[in-house]
Amino acid sequence: MPTHDILVLPGDGIGPEVMQAALAVLDAATENSDLELRLSFDLLHGAAWERYGAFCREETVAAALTADAVLAGAVGGPRWDNIRVPGGPEMQDGLMRLRKELRAYAGLRPARAWPGSHSRTPFRPGLAETADILVLREMCGGVMFALPRGQETRATGRYALDTAAYSEGEIRRIAEAGFRLARGRRGRMVSADKANVMESYRLWRAVVGEVAADYPDVRLTHMYADNCAYQMMRRPQDFDVVIGCNLIGDFLSDLAAVVSGSLGLLPSACLRGAPHGGPVPGIYEPVHGSAPDIAGKGIANPIGMILSIAMMLEHSLDAPDIARKIEAAVGQALADGVATPDLDGTASTSDMTAAVIERLGA
Ligand code: ATP
Ligand code: MG
Repeated sequence: MPTHDILVLPGDGIGPEVMQAALAVLDAATENSDLELRLSFDLLHGAAWERYGAFCREETVAAALTADAVLAGAVGGPRWDNIRVPGGPEMQDGLMRLRKELRAYAGLRPARAWPGSHSRTPFRPGLAETADILVLREMCGGVMFALPRGQETRATGRYALDTAAYSEGEIRRIAEAGFRLARGRRGRMVSADKANVMESYRLWRAVVGEVAADYPDVRLTHMYADNCAYQMMRRPQDFDVVIGCNLIGDFLSDLAAVVSGSLGLLPSACLRGAPHGGPVPGIYEPVHGSAPDIAGKGIANPIGMILSIAMMLEHSLDAPDIARKIEAAVGQALADGVATPDLDGTASTSDMTAAVIERLGA
């Protein structure tokens, strides 16, 4: 068994609290396995700014590039919101810089119902209790990487321009990631676009359709993104994998998150390649932010971070069995009614962590 290098960036606010909790789960879950993990720790964003005067140091980028996986707690907070450093948008945010430097283009945003979560969703009974949606968002291209701001000269007065562009290669690689993920799940994939109105989406639809020929076992449906959003809320249980560009994937992943009932339950991954049955490097982080309002109180829900670690075990460390064990323990703890305040309970971060660890062997 090779040793896996993991770079741990606890981050800001509740980041270090949920990271500590999730690492305890990782430790317990891998205790009797032959998985050799070598963890190294560094600071990112606010914590790095306080110590080094930089949101993401070159050393951190270098360590992330050679690691098998990067674990990141949430970053940011009002204290650093108005600090501007030289460079583009990715230089203002430690995590954005890492994603960009690592070319982590495949953003996996799973959202599923957990025991008890239905009562915190707007769905009527029977509609979303078994919903399990994986939104795959393209992370490195599209309209969010527009022409450099300030270089547009087309009009006088107040005017702003963003460009949306995708190359065949960029679409092909995210489509392949989607098909491979769908193949390992329920074999269905929706590709969301606006091919009815935009050129880049016409190319998107054409290329995804071509890639589909290599995956005859996956049922592909093209949908216009607006209709996809509507159908996803109307019949969440019908969706399996949904792929979209950077912008559409952003909207649809937040929308899909409604089925889980709390921001604190959601994990995410940014992979540096399409899953291919072997390990792919990636960055793993909970969807939630640094939650300054509850930082230091010991009540943050650690499950988003714990499930992010399960995703790391599956995609970067080739240990899907341990990932399943952690997910099962989380499901059992929730089914048994263990709940932090965001889930309307009174359990602390450490109560929830202990509850998950206790159920690992079950
Ligand atoms: P960001 O811009 O970093 O995404 P945000 O403003 O979207 O941050 P969050 O920091 O995610 O917001 O917090 C939104 C709300 O959800 C806050 O009230 C916060 O306390 C709550 N929250 C976020 N994460 C958790 C968690 N893990 N456990 C409990 N509550 C949480
Ligand atoms: Mg947010």
